[in-house]
Amino acid sequence: MSGTTTAPAVPDRDTFVELDRHDPLAPLRDHFDLPTDLIYLDGNSLGALPAGTPAALDAVVRGQWRNDLNRGWTQHGWLRLPVTVGDAIGALIGAAPGQVVVGESTSTNLFKLLWGALAQRPGRRVVLSDTGNFPSDLYVADGLVNLVSGGHELRVVPTDDVVAHLGPDVAVVLLSHVDYRTGEILPVQQITERAHEAGALVLWDLCHSAGAMPVHVDEWGVDLAVGCGYKHLNGGPGAPAFMYVSHRLLPRFTQPVTGWIGHRDPFAFDPVYHRDPSPVGLLSGCPPVLGLVALEQGVRLLRRADLRQIRDKAVALTDRFVRLVAARPGNRRLGLLGPAEAQRRGSHVSYRHPAAEAVVAELLRRGVMVEYRPPDVVRFGFAPLYVRYADVWDAAAALTEAVATVETAVNDGGLRHE
Ligand SMILES: *Cc1c(COP(=O)(O)O)cnc(C)c1O
Repeated sequence: MSGTTTAPAVPDRDTFVELDRHDPLAPLRDHFDLPTDLIYLDGNSLGALPAGTPAALDAVVRGQWRNDLNRGWTQHGWLRLPVTVGDAIGALIGAAPGQVVVGESTSTNLFKLLWGALAQRPGRRVVLSDTGNFPSDLYVADGLVNLVSGGHELRVVPTDDVVAHLGPDVAVVLLSHVDYRTGEILPVQQITERAHEAGALVLWDLCHSAGAMPVHVDEWGVDLAVGCGYKHLNGGPGAPAFMYVSHRLLPRFTQPVTGWIGHRDPFAFDPVYHRDPSPVGLLSGCPPVLGLVALEQGVRLLRRADLRQIRDKAVALTDRFVRLVAARPGNRRLGLLGPAEAQRRGSHVSYRHPAAEAVVAELLRRGVMVEYRPPDVVRFGFAPLYVRYADVWDAAAALTEAVATVETAVNDGGLRHE
């Protein structure tokens, strides 16, 4: 961290093993079913498998589905799952019950809420976002402004310029709480306040913060939020994502996909749509029951831990990793992206390297799974529920070897770069 003046020595592995011994979150690792020969540093792309998930799915598939068939919807409360799992996620992001529901993917949820936000601000035509935002969020916003075609516009500016671009034409500010590449944490409350002063709504993407750190959407005055089920919530591949609409907006909030499940009485088969005034009104079609059952397991596991402890461990893991990488001279071509202070970063750390993709492949050969992000980024995700301090040490050692191998190959003309 800042303040370090002398060149740091590489601490030995035992000190990391010792940290694991005193880690209050260490027992949670046993609640995951992890491959034994792999250090998994990609849990922020796809969370690991909670040990209870296969049995929970089996109970629903072979018990409920097989035996009860269509009665399952009422008998087992399948239709309520978007709300019950939604409220459980709400507890993780500081939302009082009745404001969060689990819907479709983050991208689709985002589309629905963004449309709803524009409907709340007729006469304002700008969706304001930043260049660091997740591309899918920008694609969806771009698709939407073209679709509504009332002279609407997606304005994408550098992150630091967002507040300066607030004005009477901005309907909604669309940002990610944690940058998917650099890990930078944006000051949600501060930006939300400025947006409100300018008369705009805010829509926060919590994909890299929900379940990874304390989030306080109610307290921070957030209007709308979406977030992923398959990253830090460990809901499994393609897990459905959640939507938050503040109770301040909910009574008048509309969304564009007015399907029957969002109707206040779907089984009346009313020819006219009447929106359910609760977050159920954000839904469209039948909920993905199996996905919700798996997501519920992931969320339940997270609720055994204290988010403050999770966050503190993420800071400790990422900070130690960065220090280990910096302490080895062979790593000088690895350029840390984003803020230098771990406190200002989320649970992942990214480095630039001219042969990033080859470094990622070399790491995998050494049993460390990380993420490559084009064109030149290697991203290391540290999920505090199951990543150990010893893993940090081992991954840093493997990285030094991987970089040496790749750079030797480059020097030998075996690999092209730059
Ligand atoms: C992973 C991610 C998404 C993608 O969500 P989908 O559910 O696949 O649509 C959206 N936004 C951010 C910031 C992400 O990291």
